[in-house]
Amino acid sequence: MNREMVAILGAAESGMGAALLAKQKGYEVFVSDYHEIDEKNREVLLNNEIQWEENGHSIEKLSQATVVVKSPGIPETAAIIQALKKRGKKIVSEIEFASQFTNAMLIGITGSNGKTTTASLIYRLVSDAGKNVKLGGNIGKSFAGLLTEGDAECFILELSSFQLDGIENFKPHIAVMTNLSPDHLDRYEHDYEKYIAAKFRMIMNQNHEDYFIYNADDINIVRWIENIEIKSKLIPFSTKKQMEKGVFLNENKIIITIDNEPIIMPTKTIGIKGEHNLKNAMAASTVAKLLQIRKQTIRESLERFQGVEHRLETVAKINNVLYINDSKATNVNATYYALESVKSPVIWIVGGVDKGNDYSDLLLLVNEKVKAIICLGIDNEKIKKTFSGIVDTFIETSSMKEAVMWSQRLSEKNNTVLLSPACASFDLFKNYEDRGRQFKEAVRNLN
Ligand code: ADP
Repeated sequence: MNREMVAILGAAESGMGAALLAKQKGYEVFVSDYHEIDEKNREVLLNNEIQWEENGHSIEKLSQATVVVKSPGIPETAAIIQALKKRGKKIVSEIEFASQFTNAMLIGITGSNGKTTTASLIYRLVSDAGKNVKLGGNIGKSFAGLLTEGDAECFILELSSFQLDGIENFKPHIAVMTNLSPDHLDRYEHDYEKYIAAKFRMIMNQNHEDYFIYNADDINIVRWIENIEIKSKLIPFSTKKQMEKGVFLNENKIIITIDNEPIIMPTKTIGIKGEHNLKNAMAASTVAKLLQIRKQTIRESLERFQGVEHRLETVAKINNVLYINDSKATNVNATYYALESVKSPVIWIVGGVDKGNDYSDLLLLVNEKVKAIICLGIDNEKIKKTFSGIVDTFIETSSMKEAVMWSQRLSEKNNTVLLSPACASFDLFKNYEDRGRQFKEAVRNLN
C-alpha cells in the first residue's frame, strides 16, 4: 500500500475524479475545498473513505502531501497556491496526475472555440471505427474520472488553457489546435501572449513521433509556430489556401495529404454546417486518417454527426421560421461564425455578461444579415451603443420567454431566429446549458 498523500484542491468534476483515482491507486487522499462541497460529492467522498474539508484550506495538512492536484478553476494567484508553492510543494493539474496511470494513445484538443465540437466529432469517428475509446477532460468526465472506470485504447481529451497550465510531463500523441482568440484574459494578467503560451503547452513535451494538427489560417497560431522550437510533426489545415502537405479544400472536397496517399472527402454531405464546422471536420478527419481509419468510415461518420447540443443546434422550424440554439457562443468569435453560417435574415438574441467584448468584428455581418436585435441581459448598453445605428428594431428583454415571444412576433417566413449571445450567461441563467434549455423549451411552447 502506498501511503504517500495526494492532496486535491477543489471538489468538483476534476477534483473528484483525481481523488477517486488516487484512492484507487492506493494513496492516502485529502480533498480540500474553499467553498461548501456539493452534497452528492460529499457522499461519494464518505463512501470511498476519503478525508475532506470544506469552507477553507488547512495549510498544515495540505503541506503533508507529496503532490497537490489543483482544479482548473483555482487561479495561480489564489492564496493557498502561493502558500503551498512557498513551501516547495509540487502542484499539478488533474490531467497531469491522471496521465501517469495509462499508456493509451492520447489525443488532445485545445483552442479558443470548437474544442467540444471537434473532440466529440473525433470521438464519433474513432468509436465508429470500432476502437475502444473514451472522451473527456474539459467535457463530460475528467480524465482521472474516466481512468477510474478502466483503461482504454485511446483517450480523446478536450483541454482548456487552465488544465494545460498545470502539466509537466503530459504529452498527447496527437494534438489539435482549432483557433485562438482572446478569452479568459483575467487569468493571464490581461496579456494575450500569456494565454497563447498556455495553449501551446499542449505540445511542449511532444517529440518527433507525435503530431500537431493546427489551423493554418489563424495568424497567431502560425506566428507562434514560426517562433518556437517544435519537435512534433506538423499538419496544417486551411480553408483558404492549398498546400502540398496538410489539409485543404479543393472544389467542395477536403484533401488530406499526410503520406503519399492523399484522401479526398466531399464537404457537401458533412452533417454539421458553417465554415467553422468545416474546419472542425477537417481537423477531426485528419486525426482519423492518422489512426488509419478507413475513408468510407470517416465519410459516413461525418455525415451522421449532427453536432453537440447548444452549438448551432437546430431546434425547430415553426411557420417557416428556423430557430437555432447557439447558447454556447459566449464570445464574439463564436457568434461571428454563427452569423456567418446563417443564410436568411436573422432575428438575433444576444447579451448577458460581457467578458470585455469588442463587437466591431460583427458589424459587417450584422449590417448584412440581422433585421432585429433582441437583447437578453441585465446590462445591454454596449450592444445598444454598437448596433442601434445599423439595426432598426431593437428590443430589450429580461427573460427567455419574453425574448422568444418577441422573436416570433418580429419574424417572417424564411427568417432565422438565432440565440448566439456572445456573452456568458450568469446574469439571468445558471449557465449556458440552462440558457439553451430555456430557449428550446420556450420555442417548443410557441403556437
Ligand atoms: P469550445 O469547447 O472550445 O467552447 P464548442 O465546440 O463548444 O467550443 O463551440 C463553442 C462555440 O463556438 C459555439 O457557438 C460554436 O458554434 C462555435 N464554434 C465551434 N467551432 C468553432 C470554430 N472552429 N471557430 C469558431 N467558432 C466555433
